[in-house]
Amino acid sequence: MKFTADFHIHSPFSRATSKALTPENLDYWARIKGLKVIGIGDFTHVRWLIELQNKLEPAEQGLFKLKKEFQKPHFLSNSEDPRFMLTTEISSIYKKDGKVRKVHNIIFAPDFKTVEKIRQSLLRLNCNIDSDGRPIIGLDSRDLLEICLEASKDIFFVPAHIWTPWFSVLGSKSGFNSIEECFGDLSGHIYALETGLSSDPAMNWMCDFLDRFLLISNSDAHSPSKLAREANIFDCDVSYNEIINVMKNPNSKKFLGTIEFFPQEGKYHYDGHRKCDICWDPVSTLKNKGICPKCKRKVTVGVMNRVAELSDRQDLSKRKNRFPFYSAIPLREILSEIYGVGVQSKKIEQEYFNCLRKIGPELDILLWTPLDQIKEAGMTTLVEAIRRMRAREVIVEEGFDGEFGRIKLFKPSENVTAVDDESLFADTVLSGGKQLSRRDILDFDLLEYRKLKDK
Ligand SMILES: [Zn+2]
Ligand SMILES: [Zn+2]
Repeated sequence: MKFTADFHIHSPFSRATSKALTPENLDYWARIKGLKVIGIGDFTHVRWLIELQNKLEPAEQGLFKLKKEFQKPHFLSNSEDPRFMLTTEISSIYKKDGKVRKVHNIIFAPDFKTVEKIRQSLLRLNCNIDSDGRPIIGLDSRDLLEICLEASKDIFFVPAHIWTPWFSVLGSKSGFNSIEECFGDLSGHIYALETGLSSDPAMNWMCDFLDRFLLISNSDAHSPSKLAREANIFDCDVSYNEIINVMKNPNSKKFLGTIEFFPQEGKYHYDGHRKCDICWDPVSTLKNKGICPKCKRKVTVGVMNRVAELSDRQDLSKRKNRFPFYSAIPLREILSEIYGVGVQSKKIEQEYFNCLRKIGPELDILLWTPLDQIKEAGMTTLVEAIRRMRAREVIVEEGFDGEFGRIKLFKPSENVTAVDDESLFADTVLSGGKQLSRRDILDFDLLEYRKLKDK
């Protein structure tokens, strides 16, 4: 069975997350988005655990579903009940080899018994797991992995958003230069890595040393409507063991790829200085020796630069285990561009649910619904928007130094709010940003970067 799964989300008990992240709402939003399997997140938190044990019931092996009496009414006629998987994220802050390390890891557990064992081990080590849903502990990532493996041989352990500067295994500020440096003798138990919102598979393909890992993607949602902004596509039996087995031994029949943000949208994609209006790709940063020409100070170095720094491959096509990835823009953002009003506005809220009612779940609309069917629903401009997004014909302005990037589907001159189809399809000149095409899986010249670096 073909389905999508989003394993990394948070509960209302994590810091800076929405109170609306209840099991009822997660069930509802999984349907809206078109997800079959979602992680419940934060399984180490005692109050969240009690709520889950009360509201969920067992489904297939290692999976759970919301009890009928808690389900919210919804309008998607043939939506199947979503399945929940027991997952959590833990933040480890510790010293190793004389440096402070901050690494986030995602843990998958096959049953509540294993969850309880992991909890008890952490409590014995005086880890504070009951104040924050995503606990911060002083335990080395390697030792945390060991505790999990002792709790069950069926656990699955995935370093989270691996390129985030401050909180990840390869992050420039507090991570390592390889997975092995972090996990040592237990590295063999790491099978998959989460690429995070700030990188996509193509960026990771630059790194030969990551070849043996499956690259997965999750939303890391802090509110229900953010579910599925990144996700994984499977074609296998729906059970915990089967899903984990596919991630341990992926093949193109059972792992169909990932759904991704355009990484350029990330706040720290490129390098630069926001105040000085300097935005550089890694090549420009090298050429300028990392110094801002306006203020003469060091520029803030972004994620793409860190990937380029660690990258050790010339030819991206040489990467084995390349799975397809689909770059998507959240439907609300597309509608916001089409209507020229804010993402949070009433208008967009209405149009969003209007689309879902007429066409189906959001992931279907973004990725799979035939364009003719969207046209039949009377949404001419949306058809063209979706076509361009699927073809990666988007206009990007990269994020840098804390400034979000922008991904647009229409040129300003196309004047889409007027919904005039003739101007929409006219080939007009770009006025800012650069156009990506399907062939541009990397948005800077890696070979030039290498040449300059080796000098
Ligand atoms: Zn995290
Ligand atoms: Zn500057």
